[in-house]
Amino acid sequence: MYRITIKEGKDKAPRRHHPWIFSGAIEKTEPSFTEADWAEVVSEAGMFIAYGWYDEESHITLRLMSWKKNEKLNDDFIRRLVRESVSRRRDFFSLPDTTAFRLIHGEADFLPGIACDAYGREIRLIISSRFADKFLPVIASELSSMLKPSVIEAVTDKQFAGLEGLKERIRHFRDGVETKEDENRDNVRFIENGIWYEAAPGKGQKSGFYCDQRDNRVITGEYARGKTVLDLFSYTGGFTLHALKNGALSVDAVDSSESALRHLLYQIHLNEDKKVLPEGSRERVTTTTADAFEFIRASEDGKYDMMILDPPKLAKTKSALDNAMKAYKDLNRVAMMKIRNGGIIATYSCSGAMTREDFKMMLGWASTDAGCEIQILRTLSAGEDHPVRLSFPESEYLKGFLIRVIK
Ligand code: SAH
Repeated sequence: MYRITIKEGKDKAPRRHHPWIFSGAIEKTEPSFTEADWAEVVSEAGMFIAYGWYDEESHITLRLMSWKKNEKLNDDFIRRLVRESVSRRRDFFSLPDTTAFRLIHGEADFLPGIACDAYGREIRLIISSRFADKFLPVIASELSSMLKPSVIEAVTDKQFAGLEGLKERIRHFRDGVETKEDENRDNVRFIENGIWYEAAPGKGQKSGFYCDQRDNRVITGEYARGKTVLDLFSYTGGFTLHALKNGALSVDAVDSSESALRHLLYQIHLNEDKKVLPEGSRERVTTTTADAFEFIRASEDGKYDMMILDPPKLAKTKSALDNAMKAYKDLNRVAMMKIRNGGIIATYSCSGAMTREDFKMMLGWASTDAGCEIQILRTLSAGEDHPVRLSFPESEYLKGFLIRVIK
């Protein structure tokens, strides 16, 4: 175990339980670094602060995980964190009409760089730290013995592979043991608030699903009755399906990914077959493969009375925030200009680097430039299976507002 001394004046954040320490805050490492291992973290005066995982090859050198002096750092400690995280979602397992939800929400559940979701009987993990990559077999083994999933699939997060020096790969575990992928594995089917979805096995976004928007799809959908709706950045139609279920007059779904839109249409058929969507739902939907910014700029004035704006993470880091704010503002300004008077916009940001206050300020700038007033009707965030850990503000990454535009 390493003993790491934090520079004077740099110990406030770790004492407040913020889990990240970058190399600039470290005064001394004993012994000097050879390979990643547990570390005891102390103040300049030698007082215990916390335990963490020390890895100079990670872009976050030291990831703090326990502030209890008597903690034993070993595989059992990780197994316990996994068990506790899953147990906190106990009530989700008995929901009548939802079988997809988050089991581990990274640092917010004290497990750095691990997102873990249940999709029906499958478990999928997204790995974004060297720590998570190293302990994946332990984590998978614990998940297996607790939940007996049909398969556990772990994908390296593309965005972090380079930063963390990780190979982009997909690993599979069955009965707690690493196995080869079953080439014939079917799509997994699951429900979310009564609506059916499917996710394909395999890589990245195309096979994924965003269960953080679960509550917001319901809330947003309820406003869609009788409306002409634009679902911008629709992906595989989470919001479109809810709008249809609630009796939207029509939905235009726009995404840059053609395969996502194809999957959206497939999911409409699936839900028509299951009698979840009213007959004729398919005829009320148009899909367009396009750049959303260009699409909305070229759209007809006053055509839509409801818009859903759910762009990908536009600010990947704090330093990218300024440019991202411009892009968010541009998108929201054009939406405000184009929507009919009194129309509703559900607008989201999933950039962790952008605070809710930043987001509100940006909406203010957009409305001033668009020459309209806006009323905030609902303040939206991720579901409770994606908790916000107060000592880790970055965990409040998904923010949304349901606004009315008054011209
Ligand atoms: N609302 C969706 C999730 C959206 S994820 C749901 O509820 O499931 C963001 C989507 O934006 C992705 O599908 C991605 O393909 C798409 N995208 C990214 N950049 C885009 C662009 N410039 N124009 C249109 N779509 C874009």
